[in-house]
Amino acid sequence: MALYVQKFGGTSVGSVERIKAVAEKVKRFRDEGHQIVVVVSAMSGETNRLIELAGQINDEPTPREMDMLVSTGEQVTISLLAMALHKLGVAATSYTGAQVGIQTDSAHTKARIQRIDTEDVRQDLDDGQVAVVAGFQGVDEEGNITTLGRGGSDTTGVALAAALKADECQIYTDVDGVYTTDPRVCSRAQRLEKITVEEMLELASLGSKVLQIRAVEFAGKYNVPLRVLSSFEEGPGTLIVADSDEEEDSMEEPLISGIAFTANEAKLTLLNTPDVPGVASRILGPIADANIEVDMIVQNVAPTGNYTDFTFTVNKSDFKQTQRILENDIIPSLGEGELRADDNIAKVSLVGVGMRSHAGVASKMFRVLADENINIRMVSTSEIKISVVIDEKQMELAVRALHKAFGLDKDSVESE
Ligand code: ADP
Ligand code: ASP
Ligand code: MG
Repeated sequence: MALYVQKFGGTSVGSVERIKAVAEKVKRFRDEGHQIVVVVSAMSGETNRLIELAGQINDEPTPREMDMLVSTGEQVTISLLAMALHKLGVAATSYTGAQVGIQTDSAHTKARIQRIDTEDVRQDLDDGQVAVVAGFQGVDEEGNITTLGRGGSDTTGVALAAALKADECQIYTDVDGVYTTDPRVCSRAQRLEKITVEEMLELASLGSKVLQIRAVEFAGKYNVPLRVLSSFEEGPGTLIVADSDEEEDSMEEPLISGIAFTANEAKLTLLNTPDVPGVASRILGPIADANIEVDMIVQNVAPTGNYTDFTFTVNKSDFKQTQRILENDIIPSLGEGELRADDNIAKVSLVGVGMRSHAGVASKMFRVLADENINIRMVSTSEIKISVVIDEKQMELAVRALHKAFGLDKDSVESE
């Protein structure tokens, strides 16, 4: 008998039929004698629908009210799934995040889990019940409903698995595992048998939405066995393994494990800023104060010695606000500078622990992109990843060309 936390994403609970199918699946595990905690997302499209509704009422709603609104999506699915389980004769109880004791900080719309009080869930499991928990939501110290950021149900699942010391956290979704890149963009992508936490963290942070980054962080920190599987077909899925497991066969590790991409960022350039100490912090300070995360940063060498160009990227959702801060506060305080803003960009990233011990990945990447006539606007590297910013229109072309050139295509060999 094992204890599994099983998370089902939006598509997996996207209709009445699918909710019934999830209930059947859960019943099969129960019939085998396993203890089950189910975490569900809102029905597919529901969170977006709610966000759009808010936008029709107020274009800058308070984060607290946004959380109050979007958390309702998951409340619908927990109750429907519990009803579907009852119909099959399976004892089950549904819980909101607050009811299950998921305590978070008060950072509405991107709250972090601080503590989970698992007493009630444990009692249910001991009584032979299935606990059905709303993903994506928690409650802060003052009792306000909070949410964990888009894709946050993954994090609810892994955090619960960590708190309950579950044997495995299973993320059921609409693909049958983690692929070398998004299979919807590259039909030649291949499912990975396993991937290290370190690589999965990079892929998730660079745009692969198959797992939310915080879910992977939890899995790494608390050693939660984590697997991504299909809701719709049987199969082994992809196991996210601790970094140390991977060391033994690192000789055989491919250079690149995966390609991530995102069109969710925007680029801002301040032209002709004074090239004196403290300017970078005067630019980025007010942006950090507004709780806006900055991703890539490039400062050019000043051609004349007096002025320089300063470029950085932010999430598209923060684009307008960043532009406002630059125009209203930063440029006047610097006394000089001209803003260029562009939200038609994409970031494409190669990820692989094999990169550590190999030179030439960047030059090969640049050559492949040049052969496709793709202009590189920014570059950033770390030990196990290289990211480039390019034109959004060329994103998919870049992903497919790199996937092929680095030997990731099904039945392919790497080009020289
Ligand atoms: P859920 O609603 O189940 O949480 P998501 O839509 O959040 O599902 O995540 C699954 C999607 O992630 C897939 O449909 C796929 O398009 C996308 N995806 C992006 N990168 C990858 C990858 N490397 N491997 C698998 N899926 C990926
Ligand atoms: N429903 C939320 C979202 O769409 C959380 C999730 O699905 O994980 O982002
Ligand atoms: Mg998701």
